[in-house]
Amino acid sequence: KPVIGVLALQGDVREHAAMLEKAGARALPVRRERELSEVDGLVLPGGESTTMSRLLETFELLDPLRARLAEGLPAFGSCAGMILLARQALDGRQDQHQLDALDVVVRRNAFGRQVDSFEEDLDVEGLEGGPLHAVFIRAPWVEKAGAGVRVLARVPRTEAAGAAADRIVAIRQGAVLATAFHPELTGDERVHRLFVGIVQET
Ligand code: GLN
Repeated sequence: KPVIGVLALQGDVREHAAMLEKAGARALPVRRERELSEVDGLVLPGGESTTMSRLLETFELLDPLRARLAEGLPAFGSCAGMILLARQALDGRQDQHQLDALDVVVRRNAFGRQVDSFEEDLDVEGLEGGPLHAVFIRAPWVEKAGAGVRVLARVPRTEAAGAAADRIVAIRQGAVLATAFHPELTGDERVHRLFVGIVQET
C-alpha cells in the first residue's frame, strides 16, 4: 500500500485520511519533516491558506516541502491546498507563501464573499461512473493555467453557477492534482482513487 501523508497543520485532515484509506492507501498525518520524508504522496487539505502558510513556517516544513515537491513528490490539494500549491494567489495576503508546484494563478474566495458554499455536479476528466457532486466552500478558482496544466473540470453552465460558469475547478500537472472543491466531504472516493493511482504510477 502506498503511504500518503495528509498535511495536518489545520483543516479537514481526518476526512482526507478516511478517504485515502477507503481508496486503498495508508494515511499518515504529517506535522514534522521526518514524517514528510516517509510519505509517497501528500494531501494538502482545505482550511485557510493564510493560516496554513504561516504554520508551514512555524513547523519548519516550508523548505522541506518545497524541496520534495521539486523532486516530484505527488501532491493533491483541495481548496486551500490548491491555493498553496499554485504559483500565485490573487486576493491573497502579501506575506502568504506559495509552493509553486502548479503553474496556475488562482483567485481566493472567487465565488464571492457572500457565497459561503455552492454545490454543483461536475464532469471530471478521468473519472468513470458519471458526474461528481462537488461542494465548494469559500472556494478559489483557477484564473490562469500554463500550457503544462491539464484542465480536468470546469463549472457547468447552469443557473446556479451564474457568473462562475466555465471556471476551472480541477487540474493536474504531472503528479500534482488540485480541486477547488472538497471531494473528502461527499463520501465519493473517486478523486482520492485517482490520486492513489498517480502515487502508484510515480
Ligand atoms: N477561503 C479559504 C482560503 O482562502 C479556502 C477555503 C477552504 O479551503 N474551504 O484559504
